[in-house]
Amino acid sequence: MANIKVPYLDLRAQYRSIKPEIDQAVARVLDSCQFVLGPEIAEFEKEFASYCGTTECVAVNSGTSALHLALLAAGVGPGDEVITVPFTFVASVSTILYAGAKPVLVDIEPRTFNMNPDALEAAISPRTKAIVPVHLYGHPADMDPILEVAQKNKLIVIEDAAQAHGAKYKGRSSGSIGDIGCFSFYPAKNLGACGEGGAITTSNPEYARKIRMLRDWGQDRKYHHVLHGYNYRMEGFQGAILRVKLRHLEQWTTARRSIGKKYNELLAGSDLLLPTEMPGTRHVYHLYTIRADNRDALQAALLNEEIQTGIHYSTPVHLQPAYAELGYGPDSFPESEKAAKEVLSLPIYPELSDSQIKAVAEALTRLAQPA
Ligand SMILES: *Cc1c(COP(=O)(O)O)cnc(C)c1O
Repeated sequence: MANIKVPYLDLRAQYRSIKPEIDQAVARVLDSCQFVLGPEIAEFEKEFASYCGTTECVAVNSGTSALHLALLAAGVGPGDEVITVPFTFVASVSTILYAGAKPVLVDIEPRTFNMNPDALEAAISPRTKAIVPVHLYGHPADMDPILEVAQKNKLIVIEDAAQAHGAKYKGRSSGSIGDIGCFSFYPAKNLGACGEGGAITTSNPEYARKIRMLRDWGQDRKYHHVLHGYNYRMEGFQGAILRVKLRHLEQWTTARRSIGKKYNELLAGSDLLLPTEMPGTRHVYHLYTIRADNRDALQAALLNEEIQTGIHYSTPVHLQPAYAELGYGPDSFPESEKAAKEVLSLPIYPELSDSQIKAVAEALTRLAQPA
């Protein structure tokens, strides 16, 4: 796919734009031989906490590990229930099972693809311990009504902000709105490592202290294990690289938002349902995802013109074979199931050129015409 007209993602373009800085950061780590945790991680944690507006950040080796440890810090365990959505990446649900608890799912609202707060009350039981809203595609979930239900029922709110670095909801940054925030630095995310990475943000020092121990074998000092911990430590290389990339993130987010705006304008005349940005929010366009009735045919036709697209996600978690055990069948979550059939993610990354954006919009407008 090296010569494809519009690739879905181009990580090389980003590397090229900041190569000297990245190479220097890698060399610094090689020189120091601080390959696991260490000073670069400590600095990154301070910088990312400040970016998110929390007092604490704990860096880990993936977004999945971040979610797992956030749930454990919240005291989630066997016998507990945790509420999240089926229209998400599988990790939002599977980490609840890692913690030994039962995932309870609620449907999404169709405009933002995020948790429908109106569905929450009915899902709460005496066993409910936490709620995990997902800021899907980089658009924040409607947090105020979610926090209200949580407060009323004494539940902990853990944001799955894996796709939403720098997203804002009524002035608050993702990762600082609930009790704990979880981020992924998988290479394709808005802030991506050169490998795996993740982080937990919180302004609760007790949660942070526990998560710090859990990521490193539950030690409170060397070889003294007070908790059943894990090896979820971040590598030195990733911390050093993420510090470089964090300095560019706002500019990249501005570029993503500007691409989103261009798509909105160029596609305004088509029959396609375009992404929305709810009042009072800042969408960071991890993905620019449209809806189309003839999604699969449209995707194939675009590929035929060398335009790559993605589908996030083609099967909601409750209909995945591995999660049949949760006991939800087809028609359990109509909005999630409908979205799974219609969503199509267009290429969006800061280095995407104006001519590529126009090419995508032109092809899409033409191909989406009813026959
Ligand atoms: C990427 C992602 C995760 C998992 O992060 P990893 O770093 O890949 O483990 C969790 N939730 C959502 C919504 C994601 O997009």
